[in-house]
Amino acid sequence: MSTVSYGKFTIEIPVRVKLFIDGEEVSSSKGKTFTRENPAQFDQTIAIIEEASTDDLNRAVDLAREVFDKDKYGWVTNYRQRLRILYKTAEILREDADRIAVIVALENGMPIRQAKAHVLAAAEVFEFYAGLADKVYGDSIVLSNGNVSLIFKEPVGVVAAVSPWNFPMTQAARKIAPALAAGCTVVWKPASYTPMSAMEIYRALAKAGLPKGVVNVIYGPGATVGNELVRHPRIDYVSFTGETTTGKLIMQQAAAGIKRIGLELGGKNPGIVFDDANIEEAVRAIVFGGLRNTGQACGAISRVLVHESVHEKLVNRLAEVAKGLVIGYPLDDNTDMGPLVSKAQEEKVLGYIDFGKKAGFKVALDGGKLSGGIYDKGYFVSPVIFDDVDPKSRLAQEEIFGPVIAVIPFKTEQEAIEIANNVIYGLTASIFTKDPAKALRVARKLQAGTVWINDAYTQPTEGIWGGYKQSGIGRELGLYGLEEFLEIKQVYVDTTGSLDRPHWRTVMKIDKL
Ligand code: NDP
Repeated sequence: MSTVSYGKFTIEIPVRVKLFIDGEEVSSSKGKTFTRENPAQFDQTIAIIEEASTDDLNRAVDLAREVFDKDKYGWVTNYRQRLRILYKTAEILREDADRIAVIVALENGMPIRQAKAHVLAAAEVFEFYAGLADKVYGDSIVLSNGNVSLIFKEPVGVVAAVSPWNFPMTQAARKIAPALAAGCTVVWKPASYTPMSAMEIYRALAKAGLPKGVVNVIYGPGATVGNELVRHPRIDYVSFTGETTTGKLIMQQAAAGIKRIGLELGGKNPGIVFDDANIEEAVRAIVFGGLRNTGQACGAISRVLVHESVHEKLVNRLAEVAKGLVIGYPLDDNTDMGPLVSKAQEEKVLGYIDFGKKAGFKVALDGGKLSGGIYDKGYFVSPVIFDDVDPKSRLAQEEIFGPVIAVIPFKTEQEAIEIANNVIYGLTASIFTKDPAKALRVARKLQAGTVWINDAYTQPTEGIWGGYKQSGIGRELGLYGLEEFLEIKQVYVDTTGSLDRPHWRTVMKIDKL
C-alpha cells in the first residue's frame, strides 16, 4: 500500500473497487480483477477493480428487473421517495466534493480545480432531477364522441447505463438521475479507466437511502461485459455515451429486441470566428472549449473556422494563449492541463499530430509529447495548432480527442456554414460575432445539437445536450433528458355507458352475425 495526498486528503492506493449489487459491495463471483494505473504516473497502480462475470451481470439485471416489475419498496409508484433520495444524493456529493475531486483528478488526469467543478456539476444534475421526480404529468383529451383518452407517462423499465471516462461523474449522472426520477431501475457499467468516481456515486446513493437492487453497478471491459449488458434481453432501454463506432454497434444489437436507445457520441465541433468578433474573447473561449480536459471532450472545439481578414491575428493570439497553459500533475493547483487518459489515447493523438505534420499543414503552435521530470511517467501532450488545414483532411474530419486544433480560414458566411456542416458529426458549434442577426441566422443553419453564441462549452443542467447526425440519438439534461426514460401510454375510457359504435357497423355487419 502507498498513499496519494492532496491538502488534507490522503488516499491509500490501490483502492479496491467492488461490484455494487443488491445494495452491497461484492467481489466478482469468478474472482477476476483488473487494474487502473495513474495516467500522470503510469508505474503507480491506483485501483484494483472486480470484474463482473456473466453470473454477476445476470444477477444485477435480475435484481433490477424484480424491483421494477414487482414495484418493490414502492420504487415505481412512490415518487416522493425518489425525490428525497435524489436530493440527498446531491447533498452528499456536494458536501464531499473536495475529497471526491481528488479521486476524479487521480484516475482521469483532469486538473484538481476542474475536477471539483465536475463533481459539483454532477451533484447539480441529481438535484435537478430530484425536482422533477414529482412532476411527471400525463395528459387527458376529451374526445368528440364524449369519451376520454388518458395519456400516462410511465418509467421505461430497466435501464442499462454505459458511461465514458472523460467526464466520469456528470456523464453518468445524466443517465442515472433522470432514470431514477422517472421510476426506472438501473444496471450501470462505468468506464474501466474511471472506476473510483463511479464508486463515489453508488456510495452516495446508498447513503441517501436507495433501496437495494434499484441501481446495480458492474465493472469490466466494454467489449465483453458492456456488450453483454446492452444485448441482455431483460433490459428495456440502453443509455450509452461513448464513441460513434461503439454507438453504431449498440444500435445494431438493440435492433434484435427493438430496444429503445439513447446515444451520446462523438463530435468534430467548429468554433466560427467572424471578422467583427472580439478576438481576445474568442481566443479565450476557444482555448477553454478546445483544450479543457486536454481536449478529451465530446463538445470540444477542434476546428476553428476564421474569417480571412482576422485569420492571422486570431491564430497568433491563439497560439500564444495555448502555449501559456500549465501542463502538469493533476493534483497541483497550478495545473491547467493534465495528462491524456491512457497510452492508447496518447498514441492516437500523437498519430494525428504526425499525420498533420506529414501532410504539410502549417504548424502555428508546435507541441506534442512532453518529456523530462514528471512528464516521463505520464501521458503528457502539449497543445498543437495546425493552420490552413484542408477541411476535407482527416485532421478536419475525424474526432481526435486530444489537444489538437485545426484552423481553417473562410471568406463568406455561406462558406463557413458549409465547412462547419460538412462532417459526419453534429454535436456542438460556437459562433463569435457582435452581430446578433448574423449569429442567429448562422445558428439556424448549423447542424448541431448545441450552438453557442459568443460562448463555448457552457452546459446548463436545465438546457439540453445531444447530437445531430452521427453525434447521437436523443437528448440528455433538462426536461428532455427525463422524457427519454418515459414510455407513453394511452388509456381510452368509455363514458357513454354503451358499447354501441356506429363505425363498427359501417366496417362489419356485426349486428347480423
Ligand atoms: P467508448 O465507446 O470506447 O466507451 C464508452 C463506454 O462504453 C465505456 O464504458 C466502455 O467500456 C463501453 N464500451 C466499449 N465498447 C463497448 C461495447 N462494444 N458494448 C458496450 N459497451 C462498450 O468511448 P470512450 O470511453 O473512449 O469515450 C470517449 C468517446 O465518448 C468520445 O468519442 C466522445 O466524443 C464520446 N463522448 C460523447 C459525449 C456526448 O455527450 N455526446 C460525452 C462524452 C464522451 P470500457 O471503458 O471498459 O472500454
